[in-house]
Amino acid sequence: MIIRKSRDEIATMRQAGRIVAQTLELIEKEIKPGVETIILNNIAERFIRKSGSRPAFKGYKGFPASICTSLNEVVVHGIPGSQKLKDGDIISIDIGVELKGYYADAAATYPVGEISKEAQRLIETTRLALEKGISKCIDGNHLYDISHAIQITAESAGYSVVREFVGHGIGREMHEDPQIPNFGLPGRGPVIKEGMVFAIEPMVNIGGYKVNILPDHWTVVTADGSLSAHFEHTVAVTKDGPEILTVL
Ligand code: MG
Repeated sequence: MIIRKSRDEIATMRQAGRIVAQTLELIEKEIKPGVETIILNNIAERFIRKSGSRPAFKGYKGFPASICTSLNEVVVHGIPGSQKLKDGDIISIDIGVELKGYYADAAATYPVGEISKEAQRLIETTRLALEKGISKCIDGNHLYDISHAIQITAESAGYSVVREFVGHGIGREMHEDPQIPNFGLPGRGPVIKEGMVFAIEPMVNIGGYKVNILPDHWTVVTADGSLSAHFEHTVAVTKDGPEILTVL
């Protein structure tokens, strides 16, 4: 069942979303060669708690950290640790917070120092795929209109979208119905209604769409070792169109 949210509930999620956006902005400034990913995690956790919210990922199904730090061929769910960022890396940062019983979730991929043209193009394409998906979050559209917009944006650039991990509804739970694949046929799926809130999150690979999970049970990597990027926003469907909640 897709739970529709009231204006008041969306207002709380907007506050949670703002904290997520502020945390991403703070972390972006710290991304440079030589920095350990655990440092990024610790800065994020401190800021999230100081903001009166809770890092939603910490302890979620046993996840050991407050944010996900996914480097290069890591698609999602990378665990922060002693690994140091290197010039030329790309890093996806995924952050979720819970505020007053409501969740918000966002992610972005950032360059570390100078990156290749191909890596830059991957980042830009994935950001664009998210934007195109969000533009379909309109009352009366079908859910897979979002999926299709993401898929054609990524695939027309020569990339692939990950199949095994998808976007999701969000609200009183971090993961609610519906699942929102990053591929699909337009005009299919449930009808989108005002008050629905979605976490839309394209994961785009330079190579094939297949992924593997490392023995830590979390880290998702591209099967062919190609680079992967990930962008995500929490988006409310309003009568005036899509409203991104994870913004400053
Ligand atoms: Mg998510």
